[in-house]
Amino acid sequence: MYDIVIVGAGPAGATLARLIGRRYRVLLVDKRPFDTSPAHPGAGKCCGGLLAPDAQRMLSTLGLGLPKDVLEEPQLFVVKAVDLRQGLERYYQRHYINMDRQKFDAWLLSLVPAGVEVRTNCRLVSWTREREGFALTLMHGNRSQSAHARLLVGADGANSRVRRQLFPQKPLPLRYIAIQEWVERDHDLPYFTSLFDREITDYYGWTIPKADHLLIGAALHPGRQAVARFALLKERLRRYGFTCGRTVRRESAFIVRPTARDVRTGANGIALLGEAAGWISPSSAEGFSYAFRSALALAEALHETPSGFERRYHEKTRRLWGNILLKSWKSRVMFNPALRRAIMKSGLESVRIAVP
Ligand SMILES: Cc1cc2nc3c(=O)[nH]c(=O)nc-3n(C[C@H](O)[C@H](O)[C@H](O)COP(=O)(O)OP(=O)(O)OC[C@H]3O[C@@H](n4cnc5c(N)ncnc54)[C@H](O)[C@@H]3O)c2cc1C
Repeated sequence: MYDIVIVGAGPAGATLARLIGRRYRVLLVDKRPFDTSPAHPGAGKCCGGLLAPDAQRMLSTLGLGLPKDVLEEPQLFVVKAVDLRQGLERYYQRHYINMDRQKFDAWLLSLVPAGVEVRTNCRLVSWTREREGFALTLMHGNRSQSAHARLLVGADGANSRVRRQLFPQKPLPLRYIAIQEWVERDHDLPYFTSLFDREITDYYGWTIPKADHLLIGAALHPGRQAVARFALLKERLRRYGFTCGRTVRRESAFIVRPTARDVRTGANGIALLGEAAGWISPSSAEGFSYAFRSALALAEALHETPSGFERRYHEKTRRLWGNILLKSWKSRVMFNPALRRAIMKSGLESVRIAVP
């Protein structure tokens, strides 16, 4: 019997395991293989891999420094906002740490204490309640296994099985499908570009340089139209003057866009962390800082005793709820074409780029 099973070894789950792994008997499972060898490119999560200032602050709170091999060229200091429909563009100063997401996750997992049992390539199939806690059915490779635990933590991301089973009647937050392509990069583009076009999505698209490649992505409403809308984005980019090289990889993932009401921290022996809870910015889709903050809040709630941790965890995330509320308001302004036009036209907070 484990004290705690954590499902999902992404930034939220791995951070929690690192923080509580010496105090409790912990099993950490993830369906991914976490193989970073060159033979397995793309075995990681589909992601932009940008560590925004809030997430950088959380790394300092957690006392961590990034190893060099996690970094990806170029490091970024500018966001270029492009409204494709209205033909507007502006530059904003913002420092992102540009990373290889696969290596970042593998590094966070490497920090988990030796006492934690880690099973990768191991999927949670279902869970049931039993007298002293939970019985889990797992699929480790192609072998079915069971595990028993007093507490269950769902850190299993935007499509959380733990959450769907815990709150079957409650709708999930609004979900988008993010489609992302890795294309060959033949010119210098040292910006994170955010792309707005209401015909393609009411959220946003992006380009991010990664060494010899450029990521082109968009968060789109799921459904049959998603692929066609992504093709339209590439077409509009070409017309706008972007050159897109050969596509070497295409990937996709769900991403949630919550309101504060959608966030659920868990109930009755179960905690939800990171994106499984709905902790992610609804304006920028930045999720690392929320994954770290929720993991730290839960670790603190479990510090003395597990008894009553649900209430303590809920209370410790009050400011995070406030933050989601603020970002929801910001989102209403940013994604309103008329308001965005007014802000971009005003030049508020923007910087001028001196091109030689
Ligand atoms: C295309 C895209 C780009 C993004 N770019 C950025 C960015 O640049 N910066 C940023 O801050 N945020 C970004 N985000 C958001 C960020 O990726 C997430 O918010 C963050 O990863 C959440 O961390 P997490 O640990 O909660 O969940 P995840 O990172 O999603 O981890 C969940 C883990 O659970 C595992 N899992 C799921 N189901 C099961 C199961 N049944 N059994 C076992 N394991 C399971 C998964 O394999 C995964 O490892 C992006 C998201 C997307 C989709």
